[in-house]
Amino acid sequence: MASILLRLKLDSGSTDKPRIVILLGAPGSGKGTQAPLLSNFLKMPHISTGDLFRENIRNMSPVGKQAREFMDQGLLVPDEVVLAMLFSRLGEADCKGGAILDGFPRTLAQAEALDREIAATHELSVFYLAIDFDLLIERISGRLSCKQCGRSFHKKTSPPMKEGHCDSCGGLLFQREDDTKEMLSKRLAVYSEQTKPLIDYYRKRRGILKEIQADGSKEEILQAMILSLCCGKV
Ligand code: ADP
Ligand code: ZN
Repeated sequence: MASILLRLKLDSGSTDKPRIVILLGAPGSGKGTQAPLLSNFLKMPHISTGDLFRENIRNMSPVGKQAREFMDQGLLVPDEVVLAMLFSRLGEADCKGGAILDGFPRTLAQAEALDREIAATHELSVFYLAIDFDLLIERISGRLSCKQCGRSFHKKTSPPMKEGHCDSCGGLLFQREDDTKEMLSKRLAVYSEQTKPLIDYYRKRRGILKEIQADGSKEEILQAMILSLCCGKV
């Protein structure tokens, strides 16, 4: 019901363009937790470039091969590889009504390319999930991911019901290779240098960026985003 109301509200805006929702934030800020919840609520697909790369790696595709050497070092995959993969995904039929992007854009060049691609055709909303670095380290070093569906758990704060297995699909849980402490500090440095400038990039464009405190509960964070999309000026 709430979802129907929200759709009506979104649809009755000044334009009926589909919406791209970007989740921006450091590794561990909760993008991958919130994106499926938001996706379920808005009935829009959730696109995680990290998940797409991991899927390509599992399938040993050429994109997977290219991405792996960068991901293994905690570095960003080159823009042209990311852009080709992302735009191809956005071109699929289920994205006609919009999409939620998790982990993209991560560089200024990616943000500009996205703007060029969708400026005339889509509305844009950006949620910046703001959180302390200390909390990130604790979240990520205890993170467990499902091999099958990608859902995240945490050893201490949100353990699965059955140890080692995903609550959603029963898949095996594992620690991502890039979720170790050493790799994490590298990824956080890459985030600060290459992705953080995007906050200002979107902040300069009035009404696009909304900052969400990402240290609350899953429900609180989701609610803040929904309220903002539905009632507030983002
Ligand atoms: P997290 O948000 O926890 O860092 P992701 O699953 O989003 O995890 O990303 C994992 C890795 O995949 C990144 O460290 C990077 O190597 C690669 N990657 C994902 N998205 C992008 C992107 N938009 N641009 C470049 N590299 C990316
Ligand atoms: Zn699963």
